[in-house]
Amino acid sequence: MNERCNRCGRVLKNPVYVEIGYGKVCAAKEGVTVPKHEKKNVDKPVEKEN
Ligand SMILES: [Zn+2]
Repeated sequence: MNERCNRCGRVLKNPVYVEIGYGKVCAAKEGVTVPKHEKKNVDKPVEKEN
């Protein structure tokens, strides 16, 4: 999977943006719809259940 923004080549850390292939800003500029489950990732950025 491409982990860089297809528009500016920036490394994407959020798996949601990796999935759509654009960073947050570029997704908005390209008119790419971000899946709704993005907010869940924002609430729980990292799972630490160890
Ligand atoms: Zn970008």
